[in-house]
Amino acid sequence: MQHTDVNTLGEFGLIDHLTKEFAIVQPSTVKGVGDDAAVIDNGALCTVVSTDMLVEGIHFDLSYVPLRHLGYKAVVVNLSDIYAMNAFPKQVTVSIAISNRYSVEALDELYAGIRAACEAYQVDLVGGDTASSPKGMTISVTAIGQAEKDKIVYRSGARPGDLICITGDLGAAYLGLQLLEREKRIWLENPDVQPDLENQKYAVGRQLKPEARRDMIEAFRKNSLLPTSMIDISDGLASELFHLCKQSGTGALIEESGVPIHPESEMLALKFKLDPITCALNGGEDYELLFTIDPQDVEKVKYLPEIYIAGEMLEATAGIKLNTKGGNLHTLKAQGWVHF
Ligand code: ADP
Ligand code: MG
Repeated sequence: MQHTDVNTLGEFGLIDHLTKEFAIVQPSTVKGVGDDAAVIDNGALCTVVSTDMLVEGIHFDLSYVPLRHLGYKAVVVNLSDIYAMNAFPKQVTVSIAISNRYSVEALDELYAGIRAACEAYQVDLVGGDTASSPKGMTISVTAIGQAEKDKIVYRSGARPGDLICITGDLGAAYLGLQLLEREKRIWLENPDVQPDLENQKYAVGRQLKPEARRDMIEAFRKNSLLPTSMIDISDGLASELFHLCKQSGTGALIEESGVPIHPESEMLALKFKLDPITCALNGGEDYELLFTIDPQDVEKVKYLPEIYIAGEMLEATAGIKLNTKGGNLHTLKAQGWVHF
């Protein structure tokens, strides 16, 4: 048997390679692999399903992530994928694989976080699986949501001329991670030094306790706004924009001045000698929404708080470009988070 390194394909190449031979045989399967969640037609309503896995040492480091926060985040990142379909999550299942290093008390903490997320987003924990693991912890959460068929928004619906919108602000979660990693290194070198995170509460909070944008999906409903395409920003703006453009068959132009970045993120980026826009484009874990709207709907978003118009979809031949504050046009690269 040949041995091809999985890294040669990259995450998305590998998913494509593994799933391309699977035919869809059920008429109720509206959308299979390739969006934030799968869509299943149940008559009046569609069911929307998404799964994400968090692996210790890859996605989280328990030397600075409290278990309660980890539980909360594991649920929230899945709910974010359901909202990204313009649907509402209703249930979750939680599966864990754990080594004997973890006590009942530690797992109680994890589940306190899971419970807090279930309460905050009004979703029910309805099942899961528990297994032992030779080393570390793995958490897999599946979220199940609902929406009317004509309300579901895919990655593929954007058209040239549509306006590109971003919620909240970007880059802070990545900067929070840089800060936690730095404090960990300092602590390992000198355990007597206490971490100094007090002045960086915003970025650390964005990394340790992300929230999913349920408020935005509610605002869309209230204002009768149906985005033409949508994705949640888990891997950085550049990577998500590439997904929207690839699946919609468009290009895009982003204005650097239109990309929302929190003032604390800007200051922190400068401290780390990073360009804030690079953190927004290539950082990860913001769990904000990137969506496009028909320009006729611009009045509907203009007065909604925390929605920023950052650019325009173009014909595919125009490519994917960033117009910097200095007036230079850069071609964007899809530099997502590489988890392998
Ligand atoms: P997201 O970042 O929104 O969670 P992913 O990039 O993880 O999405 O996944 C992209 C698509 O590929 C999704 O439709 C997901 O369900 C599917 N997918 C990922 N891994 C696998 C796998 N091992 N087998 C089948 N489908 C997969
Ligand atoms: Mg997603």
